[in-house]
Amino acid sequence: MIGAVCYTGCRLDRAAHRRTDAAWLADRLANPSTRVVPLWRGRAPIADGRSAAVVSLTGERAAAVLAAAEDVVFLGQSDDGPACFAADVSGLAGERLPALENGARFLDLRRVGARLASTDGALLAYARALLHWHRRHRFCGRCGAATASRDGGHMRACGSAGCGEKLFPRIDPVVLMLVTRRGDGGADECLLARQRDWPRGLVSGLAGFVEPGEAAEEAVVREVREEAGLTVTGVRYVGSQPWPFPHSLMLGFRAEVDPGAAIRCTEDELEDAGWFSREAVAAIETRGLKLPFRGTIARALIDDWLAGPGDGRHAPVPPPC
Ligand SMILES: [Zn+2]
Repeated sequence: MIGAVCYTGCRLDRAAHRRTDAAWLADRLANPSTRVVPLWRGRAPIADGRSAAVVSLTGERAAAVLAAAEDVVFLGQSDDGPACFAADVSGLAGERLPALENGARFLDLRRVGARLASTDGALLAYARALLHWHRRHRFCGRCGAATASRDGGHMRACGSAGCGEKLFPRIDPVVLMLVTRRGDGGADECLLARQRDWPRGLVSGLAGFVEPGEAAEEAVVREVREEAGLTVTGVRYVGSQPWPFPHSLMLGFRAEVDPGAAIRCTEDELEDAGWFSREAVAAIETRGLKLPFRGTIARALIDDWLAGPGDGRHAPVPPPC
């Protein structure tokens, strides 16, 4: 079974049946117990002490945020009842942001995501991706007229009476794959590579966007061929991770190549790639290299392979962290 990944495990009930109930949504927005999470230019309110935790607002402070927000989306309902909304306050100058208590600040989710509790990280990933989509879909791609938010922020509708186009939140699927082979000595090796624009020393498995008219498994085969000149077999889905930068869905796979298969880097973006034994991966820092941070599915694929017997068999869905 694959290890834990962040941005999963949201315990909020998304309550999709409430999204079209305008009277209920208005009532919840006016309720002082409703939780509002403000996001500012992709940054989230975080209390960053020994551990990191999301800060939500209620009562008068929530009402002030809602009044200043460009977009408001309904996220769902907590176990204990209160509704939860996210509000985009990116239009506010920094000094006008809502005051946060106990030293909390607006922080880049990418920097703190792995340190948040799973339900907090998942909540912010959900809010960030949805609000980013709203900002980028102000106008209809069919007729150019302005669009407006509907269904609690889970749809946008074109304002032109003659058009009526409906837009739904966008998700970009990306495949990540850990490719393994039987090395010359008979032990498993995995393929790790680095792209030119990555942080110094970082290596990981291969990845790429799924293209139109392509199954995810086909994207795995194509990307490995394009980037490393290898023909893979035994493509197996392992698990997924929402990646809200801005709104991707990472699909993790394992795949194999024939023993002794040689890498031929054919993509300009790939700076280097090589085969690593389990021992070499476990001691990767001695080579001046580093793996993706814990909490990413890219790292979970590697850790899973390190810990496993090498037969590549996994449960299909990762557990929340
Ligand atoms: Zn239109």
